[in-house]
Amino acid sequence: MRRRKSALFFLLLGIILSALTIVLNIGWILLNLREVALLVFGVIFFAIIITGLILNTIFLLREIRRNEQHDAFLNAVTHELKTPIASIKLYLETLRSRELTPEKRLEFYNIMLADNERLLGTVEQVLLASRAREKQKLMTLAEVNVGETLQRTIDTVRAQRHLDESTIRLTAPPQPVKILGDGNELETAFTNLLDNAIKYSPGEPKITIRLKSAASEAEVYIRDNGVGLARADLKRIFKRFYRIQNKTDAKGTGLGLPIDRSIIERHGGRIQAESKGVGKGSTFIINLPKL
Ligand code: ADP
Repeated sequence: MRRRKSALFFLLLGIILSALTIVLNIGWILLNLREVALLVFGVIFFAIIITGLILNTIFLLREIRRNEQHDAFLNAVTHELKTPIASIKLYLETLRSRELTPEKRLEFYNIMLADNERLLGTVEQVLLASRAREKQKLMTLAEVNVGETLQRTIDTVRAQRHLDESTIRLTAPPQPVKILGDGNELETAFTNLLDNAIKYSPGEPKITIRLKSAASEAEVYIRDNGVGLARADLKRIFKRFYRIQNKTDAKGTGLGLPIDRSIIERHGGRIQAESKGVGKGSTFIINLPKL
């Protein structure tokens, strides 16, 4: 809130200063009509000042927005770390202080393991995001069958989330589509896109994945029937820490899509989002150069 106010202050300051400069400029023109050379010089000079002021204001606003996103990220990560730790603590205390049936014990162990997975997932995402900045990171390149990688990802996500067959559908051409890449990294990217498709589809998610083989590229379409995206957000969601408040209230760190983009770009590919608008589902399209 305070940041909003200061952003507004700087915006107003920028506007007032620009207006003042323009008034001064016009006044000067009127006073010095005859001294043309000075006039031209003055106009250029003021134009430079106005441009500087505008650039300055834009820069300040960007900085403020970035700071806001860092704060939101820290909050999200702290929450993502604290919740499972608190849950594990509670179950451990119960296990220590009460006599429980073997079934109950097993149930508690499974919950604690799931919490542990969640913790590891968050830590891994933060680590991956910082590593993604090192552009030169070495990849283990090998021939990757994209259809098989997608199927493996789907199987894992299905098992983890106990989804039935019809939630995620894959269509792929009969002949294998192959690229040169790092299978594990691609699996990380696909898993995150699938997780998002489920996370941001309240109610009953219906996800269709289509693999196509174009002349020189493999194309992957991951479509969901979820909350969709506003046109203005289609590009922004790939920025670090960028998150949208929507009705799913899903938790996250805003690091998944930037990691995905970095993985796809290191493979010489592209990733983009499409949506007909909020509430109308989203499609993520990945293009990768074929082998
Ligand atoms: P996180 O999911 O941790 O917030 P991501 O970088 O994966 O971070 O996603 C950034 C934002 O993009 C999300 O907060 C969400 O608002 C939006 N988003 C991502 N995937 C989808 C999707 N399939 N449908 C609608 N919105 C999405």
